[in-house]
Amino acid sequence: MPLLTLLALLLCGCNLSQPAPAVRPTATTFSAAVIPTLASRLSTLPPAGSNATATPEPTATQSQPTAAAADLCALPADAPIAQHRVDAEVDIAAHTVTVTQATRYLNRTGAPLNDLVFNVEPNYWLQAFALTSVTGDGVGESSITGRRLTVPLTTPLEADCATTVTLAFILTVPPVSEGVEAFKGYFGYTDRQFNLGHWLPTVAVRANGGWITREAFFAGEQNVLDVADWEVGLRVNDETWLAAAPGDVTEYGNGRYLGKLPRARDYSISLSPDFVKSTDITLDGVTVDVYTLGNTEVQTAGGVVDGATHALTMAARSLELFAQLYGPYPYQRMIIVQGDFPDGMEFSAFSFVSTTWFERYTGQPDGFLTLITVHEVAHQWWYTQVGSDSALTPWLDEALSTYSEYAFIEQFYPTLSDWWWDFRIDAYSPEGFVDSTVYEFSTIRAYINAVYLNGVRMLHQMRQDLGSEAFFGILKRYVAANAGRVVSPAAFWGQFSPEELAATAATRARFLRRADVGG
Ligand SMILES: [Zn+2]
Repeated sequence: MPLLTLLALLLCGCNLSQPAPAVRPTATTFSAAVIPTLASRLSTLPPAGSNATATPEPTATQSQPTAAAADLCALPADAPIAQHRVDAEVDIAAHTVTVTQATRYLNRTGAPLNDLVFNVEPNYWLQAFALTSVTGDGVGESSITGRRLTVPLTTPLEADCATTVTLAFILTVPPVSEGVEAFKGYFGYTDRQFNLGHWLPTVAVRANGGWITREAFFAGEQNVLDVADWEVGLRVNDETWLAAAPGDVTEYGNGRYLGKLPRARDYSISLSPDFVKSTDITLDGVTVDVYTLGNTEVQTAGGVVDGATHALTMAARSLELFAQLYGPYPYQRMIIVQGDFPDGMEFSAFSFVSTTWFERYTGQPDGFLTLITVHEVAHQWWYTQVGSDSALTPWLDEALSTYSEYAFIEQFYPTLSDWWWDFRIDAYSPEGFVDSTVYEFSTIRAYINAVYLNGVRMLHQMRQDLGSEAFFGILKRYVAANAGRVVSPAAFWGQFSPEELAATAATRARFLRRADVGG
């Protein structure tokens, strides 16, 4: 069953047609006694440091469990599949994070579930994840194998009912390493940065009667993520380290923060004692915050220029352009964080852009500081909004994000169009099937060449086949139809009319292993 079929099930009123379950979870499973609210947990944390002054009382009344008094089998139709409430205490010197995570999972699969599976990305690393406890009503003996935590339910979770599982664990964050592993530095630390990307367990996507956990691999990503609502309370034991976090963030002082982000595939945070923040507001009213690590000014023949300012402008202009081309950006705020690891990395309402690209900034737009900033912003449509299987069909987000760089260059720097094709694509003589999985490559370069760069060539040829208006119309409809979902390529091809499919058949045959449009 393709993922889409699963997702179609979300729309059915399955609860009405199901026999009454023998035992349903009750509202008490989500009571404050079981899951202390973030506000109460934060207020009971000890003050930061011996010189801490009065601790302001968090007033996050919104942190009350929204379903505390509601029937957990009668949640609103638009309730998210998962809702995470997290308390995290960061010990900067020890590189550890002590976490309590309460996850309410709503069974929209249409059938009872006998277990829940969490994907635990940090367990990719040796000894980075230490599970302390798994608790909740009807939770059996859990087990973890690799990045997969299985939580048996002693009473099946009926369709359209929710249950809450609380995980307690300690993360020991690894240093940002050398070589290919350095690309995973979004979960890692340097002497001036502590990065928490893909640090929290997420409930696996359910498809074909099973839970999806993709095997870890050095190249690309292996996440398949549903959207969820996030509330993350953070306490940092060294308050000189500031947090860059997405969404609506309340700062309580003494290293304490509460971040909220609805309908997001992840909630990521970076900490540094060196952060310099610069802010802009787009024409659409989106606040853009760029956090750099200082020293982003470059001396040029024309005077001093600041890479932070450039990244901020590129982020704001690309958010505006992509909103026009693909549909609205779904949040009030977007943050860009200079990352002490190679390249860049997309998260929900958050992107890392590598220190390397800031260092190589020349004051001119023709470089990777421009392209990677724009690329990561494009992922807010091709990842954060339209989700896909990053291991098996990585082209769905990466080819579109890379092609979005070209759309940006065409719009704002048209004289650099030829440069972009030479510098970004043709110089690498890309080859390989666009619809390859990440597992088919022995180098990151070969993976990028096939999936990203040949993917761009395929998309551009389709634009020639169809005309720009029809091509971008397809992309806009694709977002509107699939935002919040996890899709297979069939959802993309489903936006093409029969005539458009015919017009692009030769292009598909040239670039794809599977030129048919199903599956
Ligand atoms: Zn990308």
